[in-house]
Amino acid sequence: MGSDKFEDLERRRRGRKPPRRPVGLWVTIGVLLLVVLGLVGVAIFGGQEEPPAATEPEVYDVQILLKGDAHMTVGYGKAFDDPGAEAVGFGTLRDTDKVPLTVETEGAVDTARPGSFTVSYTAVYQGITKTVTRTVEVVDDVAPIISLTEDDGYTLPGQPYEEAGFTATDEIDGDLTDRVERREEDGVVWYSVTDAAGNKTEVKRQIRYDDPVAPVLTLKGKSTVDLTVGDKWKEPGFTAEDNVDGDLTDEVKVSGSVDTGKAGTYTLVYSVKDSYGNETTQKRTVVVEAAPKPTEPVEPTGKTIYLTFDDGPAKYTEKLLKVLEKYDVKATFFVVKTARLDLLDDIVAGGHAIGMHSVTHEYSQIYKSDEAFFDDLYAMQDIIYQHTGVKTTLMRFPGGSSNGISKKYNQGIMSRLVKEVEARGFQYFDWNVNSKDAEDARTAEEVYRNVVGSIGKKQNSVVLQHDIKSFSVDAVEMIIRWGLENGYTFKALTPDSPPCHHSVNN
Ligand SMILES: [Zn+2]
Repeated sequence: MGSDKFEDLERRRRGRKPPRRPVGLWVTIGVLLLVVLGLVGVAIFGGQEEPPAATEPEVYDVQILLKGDAHMTVGYGKAFDDPGAEAVGFGTLRDTDKVPLTVETEGAVDTARPGSFTVSYTAVYQGITKTVTRTVEVVDDVAPIISLTEDDGYTLPGQPYEEAGFTATDEIDGDLTDRVERREEDGVVWYSVTDAAGNKTEVKRQIRYDDPVAPVLTLKGKSTVDLTVGDKWKEPGFTAEDNVDGDLTDEVKVSGSVDTGKAGTYTLVYSVKDSYGNETTQKRTVVVEAAPKPTEPVEPTGKTIYLTFDDGPAKYTEKLLKVLEKYDVKATFFVVKTARLDLLDDIVAGGHAIGMHSVTHEYSQIYKSDEAFFDDLYAMQDIIYQHTGVKTTLMRFPGGSSNGISKKYNQGIMSRLVKEVEARGFQYFDWNVNSKDAEDARTAEEVYRNVVGSIGKKQNSVVLQHDIKSFSVDAVEMIIRWGLENGYTFKALTPDSPPCHHSVNN
């Protein structure tokens, strides 16, 4: 404290009393009271003089009052606004009038440096120096900063987020990147870090999900399939695989259809969508060519007998094949799906003709609709093909084309079928010689008589027999001998054999 200031204080103390100080006022009142008491004392004691009291030296003191708390905190990097202190000087005996003093402040608070700082406030009065201190704590209340690297990419739905990067820095602790804790939840990545002072920062990143990749749709088989009218169309199949949804084969939709009953070019469109709406389509073309032109019948030379056997193969077929072999006679078998399909191969191996009769031979089934009929016909064709490798086009309608029983199930179906089977490249054969083995004939003798009697003078005879009947099979050798002796030739039916058609009754 400089001496100028000190003298200034002294001057102020000895000068007039500050009018606004209530302490000064009370002192005045006190002095007045003392004067009054003195006068009263003089009156009572007859104005006797008191001896003057010994003069004690005045004692001075300084009082410093801090503004604000003695212990303060200030945030790191913030300005510290010192509220300061007030000080007064006064005498403790007589000179009790308090004199404001100048307070000297010492000690700086560096808020760029966390820690504890002391600020001292000093005042001097009449040679008395007093100091009061204040503690200022610079605290780190600044949280770290987490910066996320911008991500232009995308995440496939259902996949974990592939981190694009981040950093964490703190003004005090520096790089805190290694201390960042990361968690992924409901499409959001949360990043959090806490600095040494306990300040926590948490930021989030919204994951951008996308799936720009469409499923892969693979067609099995050829993309262009060539068929002939009457061929069976069977979808070769397909697979669909998606990068997100996995196997989508069951979701593939196929539009379009193939009618192998009609020549034309059919397009099948396969499409599949993933759960993000990405769609893939594939196409398959099925070209159905017209059936080959109907085979022109070729008239055989000489009298010809076509032995035909329906409803087999069965256990008597083996015996029948032996008889035919013995005379080197070729016959025709219109087969059904029996338990002896193993004999189909023997029939073909014997040089005989084979043709479709029916899989089920159930009138109610095969004649309920055109479609049902052809399903049955093609199925039988397939069975023969599977067993023999022969794709035959020869056929015989169950009950013959003249059957009336089909009326029960579908009016007019026979009229349509006889045309349609030929349009599809089949040749159907009825018969013009009936052995009646499925009617009233009961013995080989009767079958023989019915057959040779019916052949009569016919140039071409198509004989109906059933190789599921033992007595009918037993008649075959007699018929062959009779035929050979009478100048007939036995032949198997071929696609160009002369047609033998009944008149249609439905
Ligand atoms: Zn039959």
